[in-house]
Amino acid sequence: MSGLHTENLTKRFGDLVAVEDVSLTVEAGELLCLLGPSGCGKSTTLRMLAGLETPTEGEVYINDTEVTDQPPYKQDSSMVFQEWALFPHKSVIENVAFGLKMQGMDKKARREKAREMLEVMEMGEFGDASPTDLSGGQQQRVALARSLATESPVLLLDEPLSNLDKRLKEQMQIEIKEIHSQFQRTTIHVTHDQDEAFTIGDKIGIMNDGRLVQVGPPREVYNNPKNKFVEEFLGETNFIKGSVEQVVSDGVVVSTGIGEPIRIPLQNRSITEGDRIHVSIRPEILSLEPATAETNTVRADGSHNFTATGTVTNLLYRGSTVRYYVDVGDTSMFVEKTVGDSSIDEGSTVELQWQATGLLCFDRSGDKIKV
Ligand code: ATP
Repeated sequence: MSGLHTENLTKRFGDLVAVEDVSLTVEAGELLCLLGPSGCGKSTTLRMLAGLETPTEGEVYINDTEVTDQPPYKQDSSMVFQEWALFPHKSVIENVAFGLKMQGMDKKARREKAREMLEVMEMGEFGDASPTDLSGGQQQRVALARSLATESPVLLLDEPLSNLDKRLKEQMQIEIKEIHSQFQRTTIHVTHDQDEAFTIGDKIGIMNDGRLVQVGPPREVYNNPKNKFVEEFLGETNFIKGSVEQVVSDGVVVSTGIGEPIRIPLQNRSITEGDRIHVSIRPEILSLEPATAETNTVRADGSHNFTATGTVTNLLYRGSTVRYYVDVGDTSMFVEKTVGDSSIDEGSTVELQWQATGLLCFDRSGDKIKV
């Protein structure tokens, strides 16, 4: 049984298509992170799932029952908003008990349940406080306690951590994951933060321009992005324009304007000589060393390393790592290294090295070329 699924969900606001033809399945008890850039339709999708927005077309099912036209209070889902939406004039415990009151639970039982949920969220001692006296992180915990208390089978979280500072955000990401494994609610967590999606999600659904582009476990979408957009959005990368010089028995030889032509193991027979492609060289597969007189392209184990010589144009300190921007001919590339790892400065001549097996290739329209 799926916990939640949609069929061809579409939302138009006048001429603007905010969500287009989204068919999505979240298995019962699974946590899916809906990830995408600002304005791609994540919140509108979530609001349709919560019954707060009426779809222009398509259907919503919770536990295989259609709820598309049900009002929010009958939807069997519980939503946590970015701004937490706590009632300032009610105490913390009254806030947590509010949904239970709406469900008709008697006063004693709902206070007990609310207290239990506050304990789960380590907020037991704040029951009588006003939400306005709490920090952002504490208010977030109360909002989560409130949504868990109702025992709705579906939990919808709309960027609930975006108002928290970095340290608190990371702590809450882990807590959300732990709470999810404790309660096993079918959950959709909306975020535009890739790291958050990778930390929290059993699966990630990536949206762009109102469409759901790809859904899969984090490792799968990272290692096997469907197109150039997903590759770029999930982790910054070096996109190099290339031209197929030669199709050989085990792949293609691509000239890129950086270093020697790259031989890429690609068995795709639809690629022909002269095709223009994009090659993604992720920073984690690049090594950076001061340039030496001898270019070492063959490693001790005999495998071939590709090498390009360039000049460091900029250094960006990012806490524990340094990002180096390197101009190789007309192409600007970046590499990250651990701080203290190297004494390479701006203006240094450096050697970049990588192996062809770590490369991903995309055709002119941006679709990944299957290996
Ligand atoms: P963000 O991360 O910035 O919240 P999002 O991915 O959640 O963005 P949505 O809020 O779903 O995106 O918005 C998708 C598109 O629909 C945007 O172009 C937005 O301006 C538009 N939109 C959303 N709600 C409405 C509305 N009520 N009326 C008109 N346009 C809307």
